[in-house]
Amino acid sequence: MSVLPARDASLAASWEGLAGVARGCTVCAELAATRTQVVPGSCPEGADVLLVGEAPGAEEDAAGVPFVGRSGRLLDELLAAAGLPRDRVAVANVLKCRPPRNRTPHRSEVEACRPWLQRQVELADPVVLVTLGGTALQWAYGRTARIAALRGQVQRYAGRPLVVTYHPSAAIRYGPRGAPLAALREDLATVAALVRH
Ligand code: SF4
Repeated sequence: MSVLPARDASLAASWEGLAGVARGCTVCAELAATRTQVVPGSCPEGADVLLVGEAPGAEEDAAGVPFVGRSGRLLDELLAAAGLPRDRVAVANVLKCRPPRNRTPHRSEVEACRPWLQRQVELADPVVLVTLGGTALQWAYGRTARIAALRGQVQRYAGRPLVVTYHPSAAIRYGPRGAPLAALREDLATVAALVRH
């Protein structure tokens, strides 16, 4: 008998244990049929920060690791510039499986995948949570939440600070002079300050 992720996730005693079980998840039939593999995320020992993105893209789907594509390379540069060591930063997505043609996740998929990420937050136990982009923000605060309204002030989620910012893909889309890149730099500096305190 298959077990729902809500139960599987809540029973996971470690990030790696959760990832192992999540790799077999087929709750979202369309995603399970079209993905190359489940991309649970990564969490170094003693991570201070958990970054939450939207869903794996083509390169992540192929590699099985989040943020390895163009967005990931930009994110690495921005983390380094903010003084956030990459080996202290955990990364996960709202969805663990790539939506076909990178379409926006359906609400039902976000809810189906929620137990995995919820448990990852508990297991990583970061000093600071960061939502990258609108899907991650709405995962935390509901469908009416807007980045423009909530970024710039430290929010709270499950008893810990949460910093709202843009997804690196928005920074790429709007270019080097666009508002999302400047916002990401500023917001990751806020994250670094929170970690230091
Ligand atoms: S997106 Fe999440 S809930 Fe849906 S099949 Fe993948 S791991 Fe399971």
